[in-house]
This record gives sequence, C-alpha cells and structure tokens, in this order.
Amino acid sequence: MEFEGFIIHNNSCDKKKEEKWDFTIRRDGSVSASPEFMESDYIHICLEGDFNRDYELMDNEQKIQLFMASKIIYELSRRFSISPLFLFPHNETCPGTHFPWNVLVIYPAGGYH
Ligand SMILES: [Zn+2]
Repeated sequence: MEFEGFIIHNNSCDKKKEEKWDFTIRRDGSVSASPEFMESDYIHICLEGDFNRDYELMDNEQKIQLFMASKIIYELSRRFSISPLFLFPHNETCPGTHFPWNVLVIYPAGGYH
C-alpha cells in the first residue's frame, strides 16, 4: 500500500453518516480502528469533539487525544513510509480553521519539535 498522507477529521464531519474513519480517537483517549483501510490513498483519523480552537484553550482530554493522534501518525508513517508531515484537513470546516496542526507533528529525526 502506498498512502499519500493523513486526513484529519473532527466531530463536525459531514462524512460521518455514510462512512467511517480508519481511526477514531474518543474523548476518553481510547482509539478504535476500522478492520481495513477505507481508501487506498489517504488514512483518515477522526478526533471526537470540537477541535476548532487554539491548543491553549483545549482541555486535558483534548490534549491527550491530540497526543494519541500524533502517536498513531508517527507509527503509521514509519510502517507505510509516509511522511508524518503530510497532514491534510478534510475540508474548510473539518477539523476547522483553528485546528492546532503543529501539535500533531512529530519530526522523524529526533522525535521532538
Ligand atoms: Zn471530515
């Protein structure tokens, strides 16, 4: 499989009714994964809740969710040889214009940013 990157979603996603995501990170920090990948070009990750805000304004649960997402992205990027920098929004409202993208990025070299 050759993926082109990751697409990030949140609760307000209009995809929700018809389709599932590959990974859903719930409010309690638990992760559910679909049995197989939904698409062959992108891996879809959904964060449950409203993530259209600055990182400083998020509660601890949301910060843990973002941490879980960054771990998943890092693991998958290594497994499938995708750059962990190839993160994309689903659309203009999902996950939102204030989504803290920089928090999700773990640079491959040192594991910190
Ligand atoms: Zn979406």
